[in-house]
Amino acid sequence: MNAVNEQAKLSVQQLGHYIGGAPAAPTSGRFKDVFNPATGQVTSQVALASVEEVDAAVQAAKAAFAAWSETAPIKRARILFRFKELLNQHHDELAMLITREHGKVFTDAQGEVVRGIEVVEFACGIPNLLKTDFTDQIGGGIDNWNLRQPLGVVAGITPFNFPVMVPMWMFPVALACGNTFVLKPSERDPSASLRIAELLKEAGLPDGVFNVVNGDKVAVDALIEHPDVAALSFVGSTPIAEYIHAAASKHGKRVQALGGAKNHLVVMPDANLDQAVDALIGAAYGSAGERCMAISVAVAVGNVADQLIDRLVPRVQSLVIKNGEQLDAEMGPLVTAEHKAKVAAYIASGEAEGAQLIVDGRAHPVAREAGFFIGGTLFDHVGTQMKIYQEEIFGPVLAVVRVPDFASAVELINAHEFGNGVSLFTSDGGVARAFGRQIQVGMVGINVPIPVPMAWHSFGGWKRSLFGDHHAYGEEGVRFYTRYKSIMQRWPDSIAKGAEFTMPVAK
Ligand code: NAD
Repeated sequence: MNAVNEQAKLSVQQLGHYIGGAPAAPTSGRFKDVFNPATGQVTSQVALASVEEVDAAVQAAKAAFAAWSETAPIKRARILFRFKELLNQHHDELAMLITREHGKVFTDAQGEVVRGIEVVEFACGIPNLLKTDFTDQIGGGIDNWNLRQPLGVVAGITPFNFPVMVPMWMFPVALACGNTFVLKPSERDPSASLRIAELLKEAGLPDGVFNVVNGDKVAVDALIEHPDVAALSFVGSTPIAEYIHAAASKHGKRVQALGGAKNHLVVMPDANLDQAVDALIGAAYGSAGERCMAISVAVAVGNVADQLIDRLVPRVQSLVIKNGEQLDAEMGPLVTAEHKAKVAAYIASGEAEGAQLIVDGRAHPVAREAGFFIGGTLFDHVGTQMKIYQEEIFGPVLAVVRVPDFASAVELINAHEFGNGVSLFTSDGGVARAFGRQIQVGMVGINVPIPVPMAWHSFGGWKRSLFGDHHAYGEEGVRFYTRYKSIMQRWPDSIAKGAEFTMPVAK
């Protein structure tokens, strides 16, 4: 930390929590610096909640649950409609909060807000989504139907890379289903969550239904261990997802924990190369590679590799990398100085392990600026035993792996421990169909580089990219945030006999 930052810190704003419908001043005495990644300067300090502060948020949510869960779904939907209108009005303000704390370019941040709004739109349909099956007359004057009831207080723990969209994968559906919510956003970009809490209140959400506690592992563990938290949604890196899934399950909670990724894009010899190259540039370097659906491996099949590299190199070298507030920026900085150092270390390890470093982002002039910038990086001849192939780098680093044929591409991808997203570029429908059926990955794009399902489908990976049974949002989200109950009913005047001791069967 330099002297300028030390001086600036004395005057920065402190970000607290949002509990029971109002901002809550922090009491733990623990804070963490929040940076503008494009300038490297500290812009605020976020509070790190104590166990007691987490408990206060959970108690507020618990107190609000009885009335909220009894509120008719159509009335809950009306509040979400108003919230959606407010999101439209404050769209650019939220996008700028994202750019200033995350670093992604403003236009990309605008897209993030839209993808979040789409889940709110989906959740507005909750009266229909909670509609269930009814069977008239299962036998002897008995009818049978199902209910989907809310769980209670549910918590969401979210990563830095989508500070608006990922919380919105969770709470719109959870609230629409009648749950109350405690959000623990990433401590690296917490401002958007606090603003969202204010907008929800303005939309008419009753106090305590949505709460934000900022914090670190202390807050997360307090949520995991809290007896009044019924379920936990997590999105973040795989080691933490695995930990949270195991720990929260041990505490009897329903958990969905979405983890990290290593997403491949297969380029077949018959692919439209212009489209494949555009797709790779956008998907590998957009948001500086800090997307769980970023493409970090290009799998070049057969003789396509040399042409692919020839076309990629000038595009990687000419990426417009600058402060994302400038509208012509294509790529912004990484989120923190530590993360920049981690990405640089991966580039060094790729070189040391024998991959061919074709474009070195560490050498880009932007990497010498005060912000946490690094240039786009391109490796060729990457081997599957290398760290840069096996691990998630989460930076603007694309690895090209060469394989002889389609079957080898499928085998390679299926052998990887992650299974979040994958993409295939081809002009052969038969190959595309085989790929979709054989590939062991949760989200598949055919001539689509970042296959993020729309709000009414569901988002989630396979293998070590997701721990738990349910994917996020869409129908799977409704299932995750509700408990299923089946009711069989008959009225006394239709009961013909007394007690029956045999298994009831339809007669
Ligand atoms: P992270 O795992 O470091 O942090 C995620 C959340 O966990 C944060 O709220 C953080 O405060 C909390 N946390 C961190 N360390 C913890 C610990 N030891 N115990 C308890 N909680 C802890 O992830 P990140 O760096 O913020 O985000 C990037 C990661 O998220 C990448 O791996 C990316 O692939 C993944 N991600 C996955 C998806 C998906 O849908 N699968 C989506 C977005 C991001």
